[in-house]
Amino acid sequence: MITAINPATGQVINSYTADGPAEMETKITACHQSAAHWHQLSIEKRSELLRSVAKELRKQQNGLALLMTAEMGKLFTESLAEIEKSAWVCEYYADHAAEFLADESMASDASQSMVIRQPLGTVLAVMPWNFPFWQVFRCAAPALMAGNTLLLKHASNVPGCARAIEQVFVDAGIAQGVVTNLLIPSSEVANVIRDPRVHAVSLTGSDKAGRSVAAVAGESLKKTVLELGGSDAFVVLEDADIELAVSNATTSRFLNCGQSCIAAKRFIVLETVADEFVDQLKAAIEQLVAGNPINKQSSLAPMARDDLRDALHQQVLKSLDLGATLLTGGKAIAGDGFFYEATLLDNVRPGMPAYEEELFGPVAAIIRVADEPEALATANDSVFGLGGSVWTKDDSRGETFARQLECGCAFINGMVKSDPRLPFGGIKDSGYGRELSRLGLLEFTNAKTIWIK
Ligand code: NAP
Repeated sequence: MITAINPATGQVINSYTADGPAEMETKITACHQSAAHWHQLSIEKRSELLRSVAKELRKQQNGLALLMTAEMGKLFTESLAEIEKSAWVCEYYADHAAEFLADESMASDASQSMVIRQPLGTVLAVMPWNFPFWQVFRCAAPALMAGNTLLLKHASNVPGCARAIEQVFVDAGIAQGVVTNLLIPSSEVANVIRDPRVHAVSLTGSDKAGRSVAAVAGESLKKTVLELGGSDAFVVLEDADIELAVSNATTSRFLNCGQSCIAAKRFIVLETVADEFVDQLKAAIEQLVAGNPINKQSSLAPMARDDLRDALHQQVLKSLDLGATLLTGGKAIAGDGFFYEATLLDNVRPGMPAYEEELFGPVAAIIRVADEPEALATANDSVFGLGGSVWTKDDSRGETFARQLECGCAFINGMVKSDPRLPFGGIKDSGYGRELSRLGLLEFTNAKTIWIK
């Protein structure tokens, strides 16, 4: 059984029987068979259908947002915004796919030579629960516009969202099968990857899941895109606008209850401004109100699962044991649901989980450094390399610093965010490949060379 539990109450919402071998076979066949028809549609027709998906998302926005909040606990206002962003990415690719997929002429010894872009076939999307709609749509919109079909294996704690997503495509007029939801546990993913009718895999999730998916895909020689975890540095230089930095630090760290791959996680602050930054951040964190995510007054959502809350608490306790200072928070909130106090740790140092690992929850870690070179070395002293930001009133200093950060995207005086127009992805243990923008669309295409004498 695959069971959805409301993180705000701990109550079971619904249980679903997982697909067995026969259902999986039927679904994979349907998705595979729909590929030929879907690919034959003109780009204009596919764009029109993607625009209908965007319309459908907006039409159903309230209900879908309620479902998302019920299954993974995010604030209802954030759920509404997520549906809107999912509609945006559909429209973005509907508008730009023709230009991104256009034939490219190349000079050679031929009378004419070019590269054309063709779909790979069926893409398996293994997706996480933290942004249950956005993660799927940012993968599905470009994959579909390139002419691929999509098998969705969503996280086991959001089965209702997975079903609803599949239905949105059908409601928009896209043939059944083009987007197919597999209701399976992660132990079945390897079998799907090995299926010859599956041509590529996109996984967003932990580095552990990434290693396992990449190993199986490697054996079967299938293309992968891996969007994995992160422990983004948020570097505050001594000339930063502290108020601006604090307000962005609070949003970046506590949005989605801190469960975002690109949340700022390690706050690396120059000693000269550290007390000022820390005092203001502590005050801002103490303003957050944990409560039912449906209520407008709540500003701190519950964590998505009890086991994730336990794991985060162990990381906090171990960091404190090793000498970190607890400035606020530091424990689970008693009562129903999986709430955890908004937490601030100071004096975080190498060797502590708060320094070395990803903290996937509402815990901010302050690392104090003496100067800019130490800030850079500390920012890059991570197995992860997803995003990073630097805060300084001097843009050119910020740019010089950002260019040296080892990560997939670096922001200056802005919190790291995803945007359909900009490539998104990481290096090191944060994975490889890119989503969004033209690069994201081209990931699941065959760049085929045509040579004419
Ligand atoms: P997760 O446990 O890795 O799960 C992600 C997805 O992978 C789920 O569908 C899960 O299925 C599946 N999965 C887990 N283990 C697997 C395995 N061994 N083989 C095949 N599939 C497997 O990660 P999560 O806890 O859901 O998400 C949190 C992590 O994702 C964090 O590290 C976060 O930073 C990262 N993340 C990265 C990005 C990015 O864009 N870089 C975005 C969001 C999240 P089940 O649910 O059935 O286990």
